[in-house]
Amino acid sequence: MDDTAPGTLAAEDLDCLIALLAEGGRQVIGPVRRDGAIMLDPLPAASALPWGWTTEDRPGHSRLRSRPDGAAFGYAVGPDSAKRWLHPARQTLFKAERGAEGGMAIERPAPPPPLALVGLRACDLAAIHLQDKVLRDGSHADPHYASRRSDLLVVAVQCAESGGACFCASMQCGPRVEQGHDLCLTEITEGQHRFVVEIGSPAGAAIAARLPLSPASPIDAIAPQSAAAAATREQSRALPQEGLRESILAALEGPSWEAIATRCLGCAGCTMVCPTCFCTGVVDLTDLTGAATRERRWDSCFHLDFSYIHGGPVRSSLASRYRQWLTHKLVTWQDQFGSSGCVGCGRCSTWCPAGIDIVAEAMALRPPESP
Ligand code: SF4
Ligand code: SF4
Repeated sequence: MDDTAPGTLAAEDLDCLIALLAEGGRQVIGPVRRDGAIMLDPLPAASALPWGWTTEDRPGHSRLRSRPDGAAFGYAVGPDSAKRWLHPARQTLFKAERGAEGGMAIERPAPPPPLALVGLRACDLAAIHLQDKVLRDGSHADPHYASRRSDLLVVAVQCAESGGACFCASMQCGPRVEQGHDLCLTEITEGQHRFVVEIGSPAGAAIAARLPLSPASPIDAIAPQSAAAAATREQSRALPQEGLRESILAALEGPSWEAIATRCLGCAGCTMVCPTCFCTGVVDLTDLTGAATRERRWDSCFHLDFSYIHGGPVRSSLASRYRQWLTHKLVTWQDQFGSSGCVGCGRCSTWCPAGIDIVAEAMALRPPESP
């Protein structure tokens, strides 16, 4: 078999892939059913995947539903993303303890084991690319992110269906998996349950060479393209980019933000689930023994004290905080990093408890079309 051509892996052989990924102490992370959602957690075996489950998503709503075809990856995205593993919500920076002679002993955390992330979608890969630009390749590189990212293996999954909140096609971030993966799986449940395996990197090729793959049939060989085309057709939401920047900037002083603020709870959930939001704060924790821990934690522009400088917060109203988030994500991110900060995954809309939808809010800022 040509080692760049897609091969087919039987569903019962998925454990071979997980075992190969885990070689050398690599931690394998993949989708599992937990807390009423699909989360990215340690994946000990293929049996832990959410076989036969999907999610029903729309702004302000996500429910797990069973699906009759038994698909392992038959959902779009859950609230989790690669961010939680590459840029954790809590990161110990160091621990300090008073030594016996009164000096200070500093302990830094050991580097984490290398990671393999299974089940990421095209939008997730686009989000990693954005976080790379900021946290690895930017002027203030983060050594913790760079360390987790350095030896990462990615087994992506080609979406065959779009979720109810997805709009990745309009952001040019999906649904076809095209780059950023080592391997890509396209799941086929008709007939024998199987996965078409595409190779995306030399590391992926080395793993594929050790998998029990069969040559893909002509139908299987085009399954990734067919799946992506079906997911694109199904995607009913879009955030057209043309004129978006101008309309948001023209509305900066308008009344829309106050209207959103009457619904927004300021909970910061949208920024926590967003796979590209990267802001953090630092806290020091002390105890009565004289030990101290410095920890970095996810922070959010929705928090009142996020913009605190001497005298008070710069963005004291919810309206100004929502405006900051939306304009940064869709407009000023482009000025800073050369692209939109949104990959169209829809998580912020799905997981907003008030059902505030970034697509609807951004579209509402457009001037009405002339008759
Ligand atoms: S802003 Fe919303 S839709 Fe865009 S990447 Fe973040 S969570 Fe996804
Ligand atoms: S937009 Fe929704 S998720 Fe974001 S802070 Fe407001 S209520 Fe919370």
